Amino acid sequence: YTKKYKTNQYTIYSEELDQQSAYRLTIERELKSAITKQEMVLHYQPITDLKSGQLSAMEALIRWNHPELGLVPPDSFIPVSEESGQIVSIGRWVLHTACAQNKAWQDQAYPPIKICVNISTIQLQQPNFVQTVKAILQETGLSAKWLELEVTESILLVDTDLLKYSLQSLKELGVSMSIDDFGTGYTSLSYLRQFSFDRVKIDRSFIEDISKDLNGKTITATIISLAHQLNMTVVAEGIEDKTQLTFLQGAHCDEGQGYYFGRPLPAELHDLSTQFKIRP
Ligand code: C2E
Ligand code: MG
Ligand code: MG
Ligand code: MG
Repeated sequence: YTKKYKTNQYTIYSEELDQQSAYRLTIERELKSAITKQEMVLHYQPITDLKSGQLSAMEALIRWNHPELGLVPPDSFIPVSEESGQIVSIGRWVLHTACAQNKAWQDQAYPPIKICVNISTIQLQQPNFVQTVKAILQETGLSAKWLELEVTESILLVDTDLLKYSLQSLKELGVSMSIDDFGTGYTSLSYLRQFSFDRVKIDRSFIEDISKDLNGKTITATIISLAHQLNMTVVAEGIEDKTQLTFLQGAHCDEGQGYYFGRPLPAELHDLSTQFKIRP
């Protein structure tokens, strides 16, 4: 066989297809009960203000605590759940759990921070998505200003009235919106501005290049400067060392996220009383 099949993520040859679809079906079947069996968990990763060094947000990142496979990373099941439509109920659970967690932190009298939640393009295209967000804020008692939704650039390929209406309604609700993994897709920053996104998260691959070559520095600095001119704030993803941090601070990047500040961890393993994430 030489014929290629294109799936969501991989181009595979047909002899691999059986195996691939069997795996996919297994995941899909087991996903059905994963939420009711309480196998999904959220880990939280700090996002730090690069000027003050203080914690400004946490990003919620899903993991599947599978009885046999152990902790399954999102890249292994989110794409399947998007194809099967299961992302809608998984996504609702994520939003609810993350908002409830942020409210719990606020109730413990820590200084308030934002909770950032990844939203699949499929979710955002549901006609009742805004209604769902509203209901979750009401159920959890979290104020909209402490919620930020992260979507990838692929959302901008969806040019529908429903999407525009939803983004506008979310803005009116007081929820902020950011573009995740910026620079990996095909959109320009001015296009983002038109959709009134508040923040841009520069993809990890550019931050990785900062310590490697000059192009990484040039590209990163250009994105930061252009985003600022368009009144958007900038978060750098995947900061792992001091060299990257120093460069980003010099380039006036607003916030940073990465192993340098902290890995994603379950809520109970975070000590929010230690608000300063930049070590002297
Ligand atoms: P993302 O939203 O871009 O999240 C950042 C990813 O980079 C996370 O991977 C995080 O663990 C990883 N990361 C953070 N800092 C560093 C670093 O310094 N170095 C390196 N090498 N990696 C770092 P994770 O948790 O495996 O998530 C992967 C992707 O899965 C996320 O990328 C997001 O697109 C998606 N995802 C995660 N949770 C959810 C969810 O609840 N719903 C949806 N729809 N997608 C989710
Ligand atoms: Mg994200
Ligand atoms: Mg990202
Ligand atoms: Mg990513």
